[in-house]
Amino acid sequence: MSAQLIDGKAIADQVHHETRQRVQTLLTRGIQPAIVFVRVGEDPASRAYVGMKDKQAAALGILSRTHVLPETTTQPELLALIDSLNADPNTHGILVQAPLPSHISETAVFFRVDPRKDVDGFHPLNVGKLLLGDPSGFRPCTPAGVQELLIRSRIPTAGALVAILGRGNIVGKPLAAILCQKAPSANATVCLLHSASRDFSALTRQADIVVAAMGRAELVRAHHIKPGATVIDVGVNRIDDPASPRGYRLVGDIAFDEITHVAAHVTPNPGGVGPMTIAMLMANTVTAAEALTA
Ligand code: NAP
Repeated sequence: MSAQLIDGKAIADQVHHETRQRVQTLLTRGIQPAIVFVRVGEDPASRAYVGMKDKQAAALGILSRTHVLPETTTQPELLALIDSLNADPNTHGILVQAPLPSHISETAVFFRVDPRKDVDGFHPLNVGKLLLGDPSGFRPCTPAGVQELLIRSRIPTAGALVAILGRGNIVGKPLAAILCQKAPSANATVCLLHSASRDFSALTRQADIVVAAMGRAELVRAHHIKPGATVIDVGVNRIDDPASPRGYRLVGDIAFDEITHVAAHVTPNPGGVGPMTIAMLMANTVTAAEALTA
């Protein structure tokens, strides 16, 4: 028997439909939501991610601009650009694409973005609001997208044991904070696992929901999963493949072909979490525009 697929693309389309309606409402007030992307250097993955987000913004009627800065950009120069975007009333969302060159502190950059325009949800104020359970802050897009996938797939988290593999600041840690909130769409018992965890399979084998966010190609195998569990694959890993036209292929953190015979629900990858990340970013941008123009 194969697991039921959690179709991230179809669920992202539902979210986009709602976002488009909110854009239309703003347009009737003469306001066009606007997001500005800032990319430093020519990292191919960053180029691709910003390109996809820019395209989706345009499809929803969100104004989108991209600043491409050279790799040699200094931190003061980047901070000055952020200051100007913070001050611009026609910019509602600001996204500085990570990773940044090593001579620039990501912490300093994320701290500089006006928290009201921090549609990525990385500003310490928004991170703090998330931990405090204050819904007025922006939530990081990927973990918010994982929660939305679970809600819209009617997979209950209340009382469920959720094992999150990976404690990164972008996915694992904020997802733990989201799913342990005292709220009907959360209320999970969360285990946050990492590279120093002893025998992670002892916990994942008990979990009702396993989220893999390590960046370790196909590390999660069928024997790590409880029969009937839900498995969400966040990881994106590039592995060499001379047979592929690009010389590589992208795989997730789970061995999908095995896990589909054990799990009840599983995300495909691609087509699972990735589209949701973009959908939540677009929704956050419209939320920022609504709040800044209220
Ligand atoms: P990260 O900050 O590097 O965190 C990776 C985490 O995985 C760390 O906590 C690390 O443990 C843990 N880990 C690594 N190997 C492990 C092992 N063998 N057993 C248990 N834990 C292990 O990465 P990230 O930014 O959170 O991203 C994680 C993955 O998600 C990446 O593949 C990334 O490309 C992907 N991603 C996807 C999307 C999307 O939209 N689909 C968005 C963002 C990220 P330590 O803390 O002990 O080092």
